[in-house]
Amino acid sequence: MPKSESLIFLKTLKEDGIEEVYVPSKSPRPVMQSPSRQIVSPPNVLVGGPATKSGFPLKTCGNDDASSGINPEIETLRTKVLKCKLCAELAKTRNKVVFGDGNLQAELVFVGEAPGADEDEQGLPFVGRAGQLLTKIIEAMGKTRDQVFICNVLKCRPPNNRPPAPEEAAHCRPFLKRQLELIKPKVIVALGNHAVKALLQTEQGISQVRGTFQTYEGIPVMCTYHPAYLLRSPGEKRKVWEDMKKVMKLLEGTKE
Ligand code: URA
Repeated sequence: MPKSESLIFLKTLKEDGIEEVYVPSKSPRPVMQSPSRQIVSPPNVLVGGPATKSGFPLKTCGNDDASSGINPEIETLRTKVLKCKLCAELAKTRNKVVFGDGNLQAELVFVGEAPGADEDEQGLPFVGRAGQLLTKIIEAMGKTRDQVFICNVLKCRPPNNRPPAPEEAAHCRPFLKRQLELIKPKVIVALGNHAVKALLQTEQGISQVRGTFQTYEGIPVMCTYHPAYLLRSPGEKRKVWEDMKKVMKLLEGTKE
């Protein structure tokens, strides 16, 4: 990034309550190309796959499957998710199913609540205002969106952005479980109440567990505020940054 752009970027972060950024000590994992962003793929990364109902080809790193470059199990899962009609209302009202986006070998996965209008329109998670803030948080962590994986508890938008109904979350839970089994991240970040409840099956609210690591199937889960909440309560951004520093420290400690 040119120096002038870096300064603008840092200034924006400062306005968002982020006063320091993280510079990784080692070169990051391979970056995968996103269909919505122009990123040059390194030579060891394969990009491609069939166009899906969400409008995007499946992306993966080259070492999943030597012949096609695509993890067939993720492909199977995605096909199943895109066809899902378990929630009759959501299946009727959705525009696009939002499977998730990013690196299928990510060490870090962010789990949000459900797609909003922009996500439903584009078939990608966190692309609206809350998504822009999440992108800034990820970049302040020294990463790009293509190095992490981002998904939601619900894969379809609830009408008028109402909160997910418990039975809708229950329908989608096996999909989230399978995504996490296949990606095998080192750390999960649960963004807000619904992600915390879906992953941890707890009655505790986000304010009780925020800033703590919990465990999902043996994987550490950092519970933090949802970016949409931060847009309404910008004074809380600092707490999320403290939480992300704990995540970076944990990830740093897992490197050989
Ligand atoms: N909020 C979410 O929880 N997920 C999105 O994808 C967008 C906004």
